[in-house]
Amino acid sequence: MGRIYNFSAGPAVLPEEVLQEAAAEMLDYRGCGMSVMEMSHRSKTYIEIIETAEADLRELIGIPENYKVLFLQGGASQQFAAVPMNLMKNRVADYIVTGAWAKKAYKEAQLFGDARAIASSEDETFTYIPDCSDLAISDDADYVYICENNTIYGTKFAELPNTKGKILVADVSSCFLSEPVDITRYGVMYGGAQKNIGPAGVVISIIREDLITDEVLPGTPTMLKWKTQADEKSLYNTPPAYGIYICGKVFKWIKDQGGLEVMGKRNEEKAALLYDFLDQSALFKGTVRVQDRSLMNVPFVTGNPDLDAQFVAEAKAAGFENLKGHRSVGGMRASIYNAMPHAGVEKLVEFMAKFEQVNK
Ligand SMILES: *Cc1c(COP(=O)(O)O)cnc(C)c1O
Repeated sequence: MGRIYNFSAGPAVLPEEVLQEAAAEMLDYRGCGMSVMEMSHRSKTYIEIIETAEADLRELIGIPENYKVLFLQGGASQQFAAVPMNLMKNRVADYIVTGAWAKKAYKEAQLFGDARAIASSEDETFTYIPDCSDLAISDDADYVYICENNTIYGTKFAELPNTKGKILVADVSSCFLSEPVDITRYGVMYGGAQKNIGPAGVVISIIREDLITDEVLPGTPTMLKWKTQADEKSLYNTPPAYGIYICGKVFKWIKDQGGLEVMGKRNEEKAALLYDFLDQSALFKGTVRVQDRSLMNVPFVTGNPDLDAQFVAEAKAAGFENLKGHRSVGGMRASIYNAMPHAGVEKLVEFMAKFEQVNK
């Protein structure tokens, strides 16, 4: 059996070229006589791998000198704690709660200070992004927090919130490198790798230099202090070395494809295939308010849970994997990250049309 079309929300599909290259280098990385998994993270060879990965990421996004790039462990979820520990000088932060991940981050911040939910879309099961153009931002807020793309519900901020001068912190796990981005609008942007960038176990944090200080909350573990990691160039301890190597390959792959402009255009085209189909379908319908739709995660339903289950099962048998919606929302969800080929979405839409013919 060959490779299937994998619509998993994460860990998710990676570019086939990247996997092939990694396979070819598995036993003997470029004449070293060992795999990247087996080498010292302090070796010249590994330093070159991590430095090249950082340089390529900087080039892709256009990260200015006054931002640090950290390759960390603990997933996005550990940054839920690291963010308040490193930034809550006044012990106040404003959270925009647009889904399960934003809510987890908000709850975590409450362990450390006065985290305030200044907007939420929970009243409609997170199917939209609230208007964030004129929120009541707390005067003493240390930062304003968003989850920019809501993986489970399939919403994305079309506009960043007006933070009224406060630092913006964004979890971009499921939209990282999916389109061009102006990093200077963010104080901190971070994301787990396993959605759009690489293997689980790596989280990348891009942080404005002046926010990396010794002035952290009392009791902050050494490992969670961004300054520790920045001073040691992500090599304070053994980093998730193999994962970073794969991330580096994905960065090269995106550069070869033409960078974030090309990614963004392709992602728009892929998403349009699916949304256009949903909008005219008599059986399937999208669950998200149109202007808030994500390009990466596309949830949809038939309205009948039994039919949803039948669809997921038949799709799986036809080679379309992981289309079941998140356990908290049901229905279906197609995650169509950078590495999902256009043909994968095209074939999924054909399959849905056939299913509709038979079952409407
Ligand atoms: C998957 C995901 C997380 C959790 O990532 P972990 O690496 O498992 O901690 C957090 N935020 C968003 C937006 C996600 O999609």
